Order: sequence, then structure tokens, then C-alpha cells
Amino acid sequence: MRAMLLREPGRVLEQATLPLPAPGERQVVIRIAACAVCRTDLHVVDGELPDPKLPLIPGHETVGHVVASGPGAERYRAGDRVGVPWLGWTCGECAYCRSGRENLCERARFTGYQIDGGYAGYTVADERFCFSLPDDYTDAEAAPLLCAGLIGYRSLRMAGDARRLGIYGFGAAAHIVAQVARHQGRSLFSFTRPGDTAAQDFARRITGGWAGGSDEAPPEPLDAALIFAPVGALVPTALRATAPGGVVVCGGIHMSNLPSFPYEWLWQERSIRSVANLTRRDAEEFLALAPQVPVRTETLLYPLAQANEALAALRGGKMTGAAVLRPEDADFD
Ligand SMILES: [Zn+2]
Ligand SMILES: [Zn+2]
Repeated sequence: MRAMLLREPGRVLEQATLPLPAPGERQVVIRIAACAVCRTDLHVVDGELPDPKLPLIPGHETVGHVVASGPGAERYRAGDRVGVPWLGWTCGECAYCRSGRENLCERARFTGYQIDGGYAGYTVADERFCFSLPDDYTDAEAAPLLCAGLIGYRSLRMAGDARRLGIYGFGAAAHIVAQVARHQGRSLFSFTRPGDTAAQDFARRITGGWAGGSDEAPPEPLDAALIFAPVGALVPTALRATAPGGVVVCGGIHMSNLPSFPYEWLWQERSIRSVANLTRRDAEEFLALAPQVPVRTETLLYPLAQANEALAALRGGKMTGAAVLRPEDADFD
């Protein structure tokens, strides 16, 4: 099969031809139709997350069809469409797993990080961590739901019932979570890089609300802010835009260092928290909700062989919506 392979962090992905993966216990083999590109992939490729499996096939927003099942795998039949998310395996035994917090499992393994992912023609995945996908979406449209959607949704849940919601960094996750938040009747305020009027226009079109640069104050205080940009300096910025009792939710897996700031910005019961990974319950809830909103994903298609170009566009901040790799369009050398 074709795959894009990370041999060493900090290097570009290499085109490779690999043997088809064989399914282990409770695993299914999936012929991949689409895999969305997430900022986390960029953190893995750029070496900002420690100790990835090497060589590694990145990608954790994979959509495809089951072609074979390993021993004990009975959940899906050949031809079924499934999604494979970031959460690839949990132990089921630790205190976190037993208390509904498998996203924090001490032995969790993640797709496209410790397990080979979806930048390939085929993959194997533990069927217990795969999801059926709503029929309302094409393969490419469904792919960004699997991380941008899921982790965006978990971030939104952490905002509680905040009515005035700020979103810092208007990329793939924001464009999905904003549709859910708007559907819930919240008022939205979107922040982009200063001067990025294209992203601000995109944000206004999706949210129907105010959009501006992250150096601007919102027209009214926020009850909660979600930060999807990997920029630690946005934490105090968002805190200053937040009303007493408000929460700042950091949705990414990696951020640059947080600058120090006066305690009075946190005072009045404001809080700062992060969101890590996902639980299978988050996924089931979100995938049931998405077609009801309905969430529409905006995708930019790339052939699998152009994974490096897709990552470069994301790194440069030149992406509105979500990049999606298509292995069937592969034009390997
Ligand atoms: Zn566990
Ligand atoms: Zn992701």
C-alpha cells in the first residue's frame, strides 16, 4: 500500500510502499477513503510532541471501509464505513478508565502518534475505538468531524452554558464548533491573527457574529473563551476579555509557553483549563448531534502524495476549513 511516512521528527514525510497491515485481535483492516489533517499532526511531524512511534504513518481523522476483521472482531462487516479517531486504545482498568475519563487513561495509545494512522491506503484499528459515521456526510466531509469536531465539541462542553463565547484561532476545529454553538443559541466572537481579514470574513460567515484580530477587545465581555491556536500568549489575552466567573479553555495538545500576568486578571473566579483527547462518549454524542445542527464541514482536498504541502499550508496559517488527504488520488512518483 501507499503511505506517507515520518522517519524522523523535523523532516518532511516520505512516500513509501508498505505491505498491507494484518489485523490483530479485535482489529479491522480499513481501506482508507479520506484522512483529514489536524494541527496535532503538525506537532508530531515538527517534533513538538515527545516519543512518537518511528517510522510513523501520521493521521487520526480517518474515514474508510472495513475490508477484513481479525480474531474476535465482530462489530463491523466488510463494506461498513467507519471513522478512526485520535483515541486508539485505552486499558479499561485504570482509575481514569473506570470513572468515565478514558481520555486521561495512563496507558492510552493514540492514532497517528503511537499507532500508525491514516496517511495511507489502508490501516488497522481496534474496532472498539472506531465509529460508524452519519450518512449525511461524504467521506471527505466526515473526516474533519473525527478530531476537529470531537475535540472542538469537548472544548465547548467545558465552556458550560456560557452565552457569549469567544473563539481564538479560526481553523478546522473552530469552524465546526462554531456551528454547534450557534445552533445552541450562543453569541459568538471570533479572533484571528491580527490583519487576517480572509479568516475574519470566514469566521463572520460561519458564526453570524463579530470577528476581529486577537489584539482587539470584543465588543462585550465573554462568558467563556476557547483557544485553538497554539499560542500561549493568547491565554492572558483571552482571560482579559472574559467576565468574572468565566473560563478559558485551551483545546490544543501543544502551546508555546504562557507568559506571566497579574493575578487580578484571574481573580473573580475566572479559570483556565485544558482539554485532553476524547472519550468514546464524546464521539457518540457529537456524531449524533452533527447531522441535526447540521454541521457542514468545509474541506480542501489534497492527493495523499501532497501531505507535506497540506501540512505546510496549515503551518503557514493559510487554511480556512480543513485539509483532507485522498489516497485514491495518489500520484506517487
Ligand atoms: Zn486506563
Ligand atoms: Zn487532531
